[in-house]
Amino acid sequence: MSDSHSLAQILIRSVIRAFHTTQEVLAIEALVQHSCLRDDELAYLMKMNTKDLHRLCASLRDARFLTVHTRPEVIEGKTRPVNRTYYYIDYQQTVDAIKWRVYKTDKDMQGIAKPQDESKEYSCPRCKSQWTQLEVLDSVSIEGFLCLRCEAVLERSQEQEQPGHQQLSRMNNQFKFMTDMLQQIDKGLVPECSFDKAIAVARPIVREAMHEVLASVPVEDAGGMGKPSAVKGLANMGPKTMQVTISDGNEEAELIESRKRKERFLRENALPSWITDSSVPGAGCDGCAPGGEL
Ligand SMILES: [Zn+2]
Repeated sequence: MSDSHSLAQILIRSVIRAFHTTQEVLAIEALVQHSCLRDDELAYLMKMNTKDLHRLCASLRDARFLTVHTRPEVIEGKTRPVNRTYYYIDYQQTVDAIKWRVYKTDKDMQGIAKPQDESKEYSCPRCKSQWTQLEVLDSVSIEGFLCLRCEAVLERSQEQEQPGHQQLSRMNNQFKFMTDMLQQIDKGLVPECSFDKAIAVARPIVREAMHEVLASVPVEDAGGMGKPSAVKGLANMGPKTMQVTISDGNEEAELIESRKRKERFLRENALPSWITDSSVPGAGCDGCAPGGEL
């Protein structure tokens, strides 16, 4: 394990403790310890139902603290594969997200802190009002600036820190552990993480006997274990022949049906006898049928 990786771990564990709920702390702690956990495993460790766990992990995913991975698996004794959900921490991504949030908070706080020239650095010893330099610039005497309200000589405030600046330095103090660690992490390289890498080093959880669950294997492995997979089984049933039989029957029935329809159509649309049978005995109707020769 590289230095940057273990530093990233410390950073993530500290940040989650500083800014998040106990449940979120526990979920991340479990993922740090186990590397990769399926939703029902994490739910078991957290003593939560999976629905609540999914909600918790969705908010952690949105905060980039964990990554969600799903893959189809076949549960022991069943034939249909189901999608199973796994959680793991992509340290690179999480460190970047923390870095971004530190930067963003710092920028937001800079906005709150007012520039120096806007601070009220003059105060009146008599009426206790405060003024900026710009406000009292015109109200000047030999002794100094005068109060705009009571005309007493103003005193210059002693290095009075503005609330914005106080907040900023307080934030800098509180964020110091993060900025320091981020700088150290940046000296090295946090190794890339993927689901395959995370699950390869995953520490299995030990369940009590009464909480054991059926084994579940990924679909790509199921075939390799000599078990006939559901998909292959279906292919061997030969639906082709069935389809052909059905199709054959249909074709024949359709043929008969279409012939009947044609006959009925001809019957219904046949010209009336007064047209087909000429009034001239012995003569046909060849000459008077529509489209025929005149
Ligand atoms: Zn005054």
